Amino acid sequence: MKNDKKKVHWLWLLLCCWTGSLSAASNEVQSIRIWPSPENTRVVFDLAAAPDQRSFALENPHRFVIDLRQHKAQSRLPAASGDASLIQNIRSSYTANNQTLRIVLDLSEKASANVFSLPPTGPYGHRLVVDFKGEQRELPVAQARAQRQPGRDIIIAIDAGHGGEDPGSIGPAGTFEKNLVLPIARRLAELINNEPGMKAVLVRTGDYFVHLNRRTDIARELQADLLVSIHADAFTSPQPRGAAVWVLSLRRATSEVGRMLEQKERHSELLGGVGEIIRDSTQERYLAQTVLDLSMNHSMVSAHQAATHVLAELGQITRLHRREPQAASLAVLRSPDIPSILVEVGFISNPQEEQQLRTAQHQQRLAQSMFQGLRRHFRESPPADSLFAQHRSREHRVERGESLSLVAQRYNVSVEALRQHNQLNGDTIRIGQVLRIPD
Ligand SMILES: [Zn+2]
Repeated sequence: MKNDKKKVHWLWLLLCCWTGSLSAASNEVQSIRIWPSPENTRVVFDLAAAPDQRSFALENPHRFVIDLRQHKAQSRLPAASGDASLIQNIRSSYTANNQTLRIVLDLSEKASANVFSLPPTGPYGHRLVVDFKGEQRELPVAQARAQRQPGRDIIIAIDAGHGGEDPGSIGPAGTFEKNLVLPIARRLAELINNEPGMKAVLVRTGDYFVHLNRRTDIARELQADLLVSIHADAFTSPQPRGAAVWVLSLRRATSEVGRMLEQKERHSELLGGVGEIIRDSTQERYLAQTVLDLSMNHSMVSAHQAATHVLAELGQITRLHRREPQAASLAVLRSPDIPSILVEVGFISNPQEEQQLRTAQHQQRLAQSMFQGLRRHFRESPPADSLFAQHRSREHRVERGESLSLVAQRYNVSVEALRQHNQLNGDTIRIGQVLRIPD
């Protein structure tokens, strides 16, 4: 009996300590980061503890207010890194009796906000994220999409992985993956845009985070013929090296690197996510439905073909980690209607490759070989209404008994034009020779 009383006493003491620590004002704003992007402006508050907060908007002038409860007295906020035209000023005031820090963001215009907290992960601790929705960005190929006429451009969405809050993998010399893949993506886009009949659009154009689902949405809005996501691999040991190309698998990855890639994608969501981590159950259900869809099959087959061509070209200029396309269950590859591939340009965790990946020369060679692989893929299997398809149909394979003048007659072009177009010196053609027919 006496013993029991003692127990109860101890329990009381424990409970008091516990609730006491809960009500202690412990939170603190440690740093503030502003990440502008074409589609939204993100403000991130790094906090000492998980936030207990409420937020609301005010007008005349436009402001956004966040009250952080359980907060220590904080006379001034740390200076924000980064800036965006939407955020004119960030100020704060502290009310001691209810231990609340009020943060006021002065806005240049009315903007709706999505507020959520993120748990500690990777280099970051507790965070409070405020995403202000901007105007929907003018997608540069909106016009191209509107005029999907015969002879159209093949549209390729290029997705530079990570960005903003999410640095991606970090190399031994401190290189951020997000900063390597963007210039490679830009170089690839430039090569594609210089090719008649092809058009590239960058999914991410600067240093900001784009949600994984939004990346595939952008590709869909563009009605892209292919989505290419560019990454640099990392592994727990420095030895692995070489490039690899990934395509969607409906099952979980079987290789260790593949499983790490799947994990990393989740990590990426945690670093830069929108408050909801990839929802497994809904995603699986979604997937189960689309498996029934033949278009998924078609997408996966063309993705595999594109991946094979890209690998063949990459293998000319860099070591390959795997010679065949690898399969993993990655959200960024899951557009049922858009063939998608993920190119790992090399291992950032390998010291030599990290150095190599940083050079403009190597970045250009990677872009060049990816471009050649993609062009070869689309020359081989162009979308029916594309300029590539038109060009392809304007080819003639010489058959027995055919002369140059006969072919010219058949396509209603002059012999001279045919000769010039195919750089022929005389009139001799051989069976099986492929002649390109001028327009
Ligand atoms: Zn990555």
